[in-house]
Amino acid sequence: MKMQEYIEEAEKALLHTYNRYQVVLEKGDGVYLYDMEGKKYLDFVSGIGVFALGYNNKEYNDALKGQIDKIIHTSNYYYNIPAIQAAKKLKEVSGMDRVFFTNSGAEAVEGALKAARKYAYLKDGTTDHEIIAMNRSFHGRTFGALSVTGNPKYREAFEPMIGNIKFAEMNDLDSVKECMTDKTCAIILETVQGEGGIWPAEKEFLEGLRALCDSRDMLLILDEIQCGMGRVGTMYAWQKYGVKPDILTSAKALGCGIPVGAFLMTERVAASSLTSGDHGTTYGGNPLAAAAIVKVLELYEKEHILDRVKETAPYLESRLDALAEKYDVIETRRGMGLMQGLVFRNPVAPVINKALENGLILINAGTNIIRLVPPLIISKEDVDRMAEILDNSIATA
Ligand SMILES: *Cc1c(COP(=O)(O)O)cnc(C)c1O
Repeated sequence: MKMQEYIEEAEKALLHTYNRYQVVLEKGDGVYLYDMEGKKYLDFVSGIGVFALGYNNKEYNDALKGQIDKIIHTSNYYYNIPAIQAAKKLKEVSGMDRVFFTNSGAEAVEGALKAARKYAYLKDGTTDHEIIAMNRSFHGRTFGALSVTGNPKYREAFEPMIGNIKFAEMNDLDSVKECMTDKTCAIILETVQGEGGIWPAEKEFLEGLRALCDSRDMLLILDEIQCGMGRVGTMYAWQKYGVKPDILTSAKALGCGIPVGAFLMTERVAASSLTSGDHGTTYGGNPLAAAAIVKVLELYEKEHILDRVKETAPYLESRLDALAEKYDVIETRRGMGLMQGLVFRNPVAPVINKALENGLILINAGTNIIRLVPPLIISKEDVDRMAEILDNSIATA
């Protein structure tokens, strides 16, 4: 079958929840993807911040193949070696104390919200606690995660959401204070907002939230599903700010392609929140998924991923700034590390489609923003190549 025929088949069989780009991707190697007709694309999306190590990393692939031949799944009612290793290592690199593995980001957020409610419940025995979330935020598509997602368009048709959620403005401490009551038990935000348009938290804002949480024994939940795992140059973004959360969520690059997530907490929260029988998952942290995490974390060290991000990120910024300077249609660039947004004055879809035609994979964050979340292994030459194609695509779109 030809590519176009596959696309037609897809549109007959799959639920129409995505406007897909008209391409069938078949394989990947390093920072390149190939469609089924053999056309090569430089990838600056990495499956939305997932494939941090690039495609077809031999050691990673071998680790998974080796695990498949041993055991793929056991229930969480039994211990398995990869999950133990993954939890130990993830604790170390995240600075948190306890891990619960999930299958996805949304599921990690669900667990984080449950943990926060349980923590508050154990303190006063009441059940009407409130959580503060941010406008423009994105936390996933399941009901709990959607309930704290600050984009009414995603929520509207699915109301009612879970109750007692209030929305404040990112980087506006006063708006958070206005939402606070004696019932507030937690504040949830992305350390760097992703889907909402690449908005990093300001340092003073995060510090202010930490102080508010400490003064009222509320929990600070940082969702680092997109901005964590080295994307901003530290393993988790909170480490760059020096503002430690009580609960942290991770996913996307955590498994580098194997569907896995996690929520983590400090010992203090773990000691008085979720306990035996409170939460569970069939697949979460199964041996195959956990083996992926173990190998990913090992390769981050071995391939000096954080150093590489610190080196390439300023270069990426400078190339993007040059484009913003050159083109009036670009309003600004913003972001942190290898999580960058180019903010246009009008919709970016034509530019993204043109870039795809020219062999560069990009994605939007909202209508007017091109989001760049490349594999963390990109080189300066890759950045140059991207900037060249993007320049050309903007000029001709
Ligand atoms: C992608 C994302 C999620 C949802 O993760 P899924 O694995 O798609 O469920 C949640 N929070 C943030 C910040 C994300 O970027």
